[in-house]
Amino acid sequence: MSNRKERIKEIYEMLNRYELLDYDCGRLCGAACCTLGGNFGDENMGIYLLPGEEELLKDEDWLDIVVSDASEHDLPDSWKGEVYFAKCKTPPICPREKRPMQCRTFPLAPHLSRDCELTMVYNDLELPYECPLIEEETPLEDEFVEAILNAWDLLMEDPMIYDLVKMDSEAREESFAELMGKLGY
Ligand code: SF4
Ligand code: SF4
Repeated sequence: MSNRKERIKEIYEMLNRYELLDYDCGRLCGAACCTLGGNFGDENMGIYLLPGEEELLKDEDWLDIVVSDASEHDLPDSWKGEVYFAKCKTPPICPREKRPMQCRTFPLAPHLSRDCELTMVYNDLELPYECPLIEEETPLEDEFVEAILNAWDLLMEDPMIYDLVKMDSEAREESFAELMGKLGY
């Protein structure tokens, strides 16, 4: 087993021990992030996989893994060659213990501040659906946030994942600074 695959497997197992994480917010919205975000029917949608997740999930029959080239996506320079997106065949039904990191993390996203502090923030990417947790900025369980933060801290030991989080965080800080500028702060 490659180091990356092994590392991802350990992180999934670590997160699977937190039963608290299995709260069902899908009742609020008809599981919009699964049925629209991970929907097999829409060719533009899918769940991006981190390096190592594809190796771990490639034989799962409830997922279809689509391969594309890193150059077709807004990714850091260190991401070269093939990148992978997962499409769920029966959303929102899946073996929860095998969900990709994107699903485990949503509605949060990892953010690296300018002084290199890692925190979790609400996902601010444009989405084709509304997540009630984001819209209402619902406070999430501390244990959930802490577990996900620990997982990303470990994931970021992989330089490719570090570069991805750094790139997204810089873009987030820039848009925030732009917005504050427009508001006259
Ligand atoms: S994370 Fe948001 S969009 Fe996804 S099921 Fe929960 S409330 Fe709905
Ligand atoms: S893997 Fe599971 S949690 Fe993630 S989008 Fe698919 S059905 Fe939803």
